[in-house]
Amino acid sequence: MNVSIIAVGTELLFGQTVNTNATYISNQLNLMGFNVMYHHVVGDNPGRLKELIKSTFTDNDIIIFTGGLGPTQDDLTKEIVAEAMGVELYFDERCYAEIKSYFDDRNRIMPENNRKQAYIPVGAEVFHNEAGTAPAFGIEKDGKCAICLPGPPREMKWLFNNCVTDYLKKFSSKEMYYRVIRTIGIGESDLETKLLPVINNQVDPTVATYAKEGECTLRVASQRETEAEAQLAVDNMVSEIEKLVGNYIYSFDDEELSEVVVKQLKEKELKLSSAESCTGGLFASCITDVPGASSVFSYGFVTYSAAAKSEILDVDIEVIENHSVVSAEVAVLMAKGAQNAANSDISVSVTGYAGPEADPGRDNGNAYIGYSCSERFGEKCGYVEINTKRSDRKWNRNYFKLRMLLVVYEILNGKLS
Ligand code: AMP
Ligand code: MG
Repeated sequence: MNVSIIAVGTELLFGQTVNTNATYISNQLNLMGFNVMYHHVVGDNPGRLKELIKSTFTDNDIIIFTGGLGPTQDDLTKEIVAEAMGVELYFDERCYAEIKSYFDDRNRIMPENNRKQAYIPVGAEVFHNEAGTAPAFGIEKDGKCAICLPGPPREMKWLFNNCVTDYLKKFSSKEMYYRVIRTIGIGESDLETKLLPVINNQVDPTVATYAKEGECTLRVASQRETEAEAQLAVDNMVSEIEKLVGNYIYSFDDEELSEVVVKQLKEKELKLSSAESCTGGLFASCITDVPGASSVFSYGFVTYSAAAKSEILDVDIEVIENHSVVSAEVAVLMAKGAQNAANSDISVSVTGYAGPEADPGRDNGNAYIGYSCSERFGEKCGYVEINTKRSDRKWNRNYFKLRMLLVVYEILNGKLS
């Protein structure tokens, strides 16, 4: 089944709003096994929308629209779609009652123009919107299907997940199963090269690689008659992949590295602490984003100045003066200082130049991740040097944080010598 997405809204063409709806819907459709052919964006213009619908239906079976279902004059998607499908609109009493009670429940008076939202194309299946006022719908005629969803992403997502996925099932005779594998420490092209034996000539399951900041994701998907068959095919393929690149895989279930780290710390009953300079607490923040982090994460120091490093983490000021504050020596002392203060099993630190202006003679993106471990890990300590040579502060800070996570992960899994 070929599907295209038409996002309606002049604000999208002005660049005021990013078309995140298309991204979200495409992603979901892909997971469901539909081919997404085109993303179109059109302004609130009846003539152009009409033309676009006509041309899009020539080689697509399904069009999903977002936007233009609101109560105002410029919201015209529903009217134009009904016209294109050759049906009239009718006043739907249940939709009207729902819109009315949406306002009543909030002690607000319903503006008269919201009545407009209760008109639905004849023959459409209504998707009752529990996240807002605009009812959505799907309509089929002459082998073509139009699905109209409101523009606000929160409402669109609610309707997609609660109504559209079920509605679309009738168009797909096969069952889909997929797994998402996350890797780190290998670039996308290297990963693809190593996976060539399974990527070449792939039909089903399909294996797709996606690069994200500092890591790579693999999606293994199969469509078969039954979900059990699809699952078996995917699991077999995942075993093949594990043989080829198992060393770089940190999750077979689409988990974040921070989730995996917290999970493993919990399982091993270990405590973690951190000392951050240039990341200003990003590491502590991403660890504490994980529910239940309190049982494994005791202290997170942010020691931005040299004085803070010396006063709080007991880093010898002479070491800072002799080696510079961005140095392997300081990184290790920061980690040791944090470990002593927190009495943790693993402590990780960072000091570096996030950019855009490093000290003279030093690179933007140069950082040292220090670590220090308790006797459970042979009291080892050390550092990892990073040099991204980038001056993008945000990117560097995020990358340093990721590398801190990786160091903890490698310690936990005996991968750091
Ligand atoms: P509408 O349903 O056209 O009244 O859209 C209402 C609001 O939803 C707009 O002002 C945007 O903020 C948002 N919106 C509309 N279309 C999109 C889209 N394709 N992606 C993300 N947000 C959107
Ligand atoms: Mg609009």
